[in-house]
Amino acid sequence: MKKVDVILTGGSVATMNGDFDLFTPGAVVVRDGLIEAVGPADEIAGAYGADEVVDCSGCAVIPGLVNAHTHAPMTLLRGLADDLRLDVWLVGYMMPVEREFVGSRFCWLGTQLACAEMIRSGTTCFADMYYYEEAVADATAQAGLRAVCAETVLRFPSPDALSHDESLGDNRDFIRRWQGHPLIMPAVGPHAPYTTTTDLLREAAQMAQEFDVPLHIHVAETRQEVEDHQAEHGTRVVPWLAEQGVLDAKVIAAHCVHIDEDEMQILLQHGVGVAHNPTSNLKLASGVAPVTRMLELGLNVGIGTDGPASNNDLDMWEEMRLAALLAKGVTFDPTALPARQALALATIGGARALHMGDLIGSLEPGKRADLAVVELGGVHNAPEFARDPEALYARLVYAAKGSDVRDVMCQGRWLMRERRLLTLDEQALIAEATQTARKIDAFLIQREESVLSKLLVIAQVAQQKVFEVQVKVLLSEPPPEDFLDKPEFVILKPSLRRQYDIYFLFDDPYRSRLRYREDEVLDEGGEVRDVFYRLTLTSEKKDEEYDKSVLLSRSRFDAPATRSLRFYREYFKPADEVMVHKERRRCHLRYGGTDFSINLDRLLQPDLEGVFLEIKSRTWSGQDAERKAELIGELLELFGVQEQELVKQEYLDLALEATRLEGD
Ligand SMILES: [Zn+2]
Repeated sequence: MKKVDVILTGGSVATMNGDFDLFTPGAVVVRDGLIEAVGPADEIAGAYGADEVVDCSGCAVIPGLVNAHTHAPMTLLRGLADDLRLDVWLVGYMMPVEREFVGSRFCWLGTQLACAEMIRSGTTCFADMYYYEEAVADATAQAGLRAVCAETVLRFPSPDALSHDESLGDNRDFIRRWQGHPLIMPAVGPHAPYTTTTDLLREAAQMAQEFDVPLHIHVAETRQEVEDHQAEHGTRVVPWLAEQGVLDAKVIAAHCVHIDEDEMQILLQHGVGVAHNPTSNLKLASGVAPVTRMLELGLNVGIGTDGPASNNDLDMWEEMRLAALLAKGVTFDPTALPARQALALATIGGARALHMGDLIGSLEPGKRADLAVVELGGVHNAPEFARDPEALYARLVYAAKGSDVRDVMCQGRWLMRERRLLTLDEQALIAEATQTARKIDAFLIQREESVLSKLLVIAQVAQQKVFEVQVKVLLSEPPPEDFLDKPEFVILKPSLRRQYDIYFLFDDPYRSRLRYREDEVLDEGGEVRDVFYRLTLTSEKKDEEYDKSVLLSRSRFDAPATRSLRFYREYFKPADEVMVHKERRRCHLRYGGTDFSINLDRLLQPDLEGVFLEIKSRTWSGQDAERKAELIGELLELFGVQEQELVKQEYLDLALEATRLEGD
């Protein structure tokens, strides 16, 4: 009789091998971290002896689940901001918080917390992509779990690298340090085609091939991404990745929601592993990946939870059930993605998608001893029918829960026995995570206090205040064409524009107004030559007033508007909005040694009589301002403007009044 380390016996063993062998009652033999044998319980009892024999009766013994795509440290951001559109969620919340908080300790803590959750629900291997992957790898190895750890590479600065060169260099060192580790497989993680560059992707692919490690990347997650890619590169995402040589590496492609038949064929030809993330794709309303078709073609598909900030947990049981249900729902075919196949995706399919199919994913002699023991005796899983042994898969996929997992082993080491974690102090981890959450709370609460601080977080704002000395005049009719032809003036840069302004109005103490301006510069023929988008923050308060109602106006914060109006609307949540469209004749003029801008505006919306003359000069000191106010007075006289034509209000105020009148 051969002496081994552990024998798990008496349960239903779902091997998930090529023949889907089931043994009831069966046994699994573990020796030196590997699976020594699997078979009927009585046969095993006759051939092997061990000091530790684990009674698994009433349970299923399955391969440890493989989470094919996640961002483990994001457990610390779980529940921070939900039910938002992807860009508002990512740019408005995740990225600012990550910039402020994500460091080595954060990633270590978040990963340990993730490992505790994964062990509890029977996951023994996960494919990660995040920052400070060194800390992720370290925390995972300490927890005793297996992981493919991909260091994120972006074209812009990330929390752990100022540039992608630095990032790629760090990645190389990271791979060298961890290659050959029994639990950790280092990998390269170019985030996605749209967040990297062609060169960066090529370099990442070369590095992955040089070290023979996986390349983990998000592919075709949203329709928008695919449309933008098509517009920029003239081709779909997958063929483009193939052209860049990215698919020559051992690729783990997360999502693949919006890919067509040809793209699936390309993925198949290149042996790409696909990570299907049903919950994340539904929660972020990205769509449903064509998994049924991928499986028909023979693609290696695994299941992932994606990060806990977009799921919001790491429970692979929910994920495989959803994968099965969703496939049926979208194909109107209840036989699509049956339970056995769903469990296969979460085990051997995931292992293959991670390019580790020869090491893990099934209970077969020679493979790593990664397994989970699942209790089937819960009230939600009773009674049991004996007629069809394959019913075990349905019990596991459609009724079992993560909390039914009783014991977990990875590489022959127990990580959980009788629901007690053996490598992690769960309470201490939750306590420290709670402290981190308090700090993030404080940061976001402070940021939400003013429109300005919210603006500063997302835009490259010129943080200094800008003061303007300005006057606005209502002219009953347009001035003559030559009204600027005066010997006293030097005219610079005349232009004709159409400006579409949306004002976001806020009920805050500053009565803040955030203007989103689409500024079209027209050529001689009236065609649009250039378009600029700007965000300008102002408040109602005027700083000072001079003779003839010349104003030293309030502070302004100016930034290019790089995102959509819809994004800003959802991010800032204004109390009210006002739309002002106008045609603006604009020129810069030098008078009295000072630069002024002169704008002649005709309001297109709301429909107000007349033309507005606006004279402005930027200034930063009190005395200077007084001098400029005098000069504006002189200019008004030169233009023959009477005092009663002065208007103190902004167009906005007029517009507001006009809107109110219309409403009456
Ligand atoms: Zn992801």
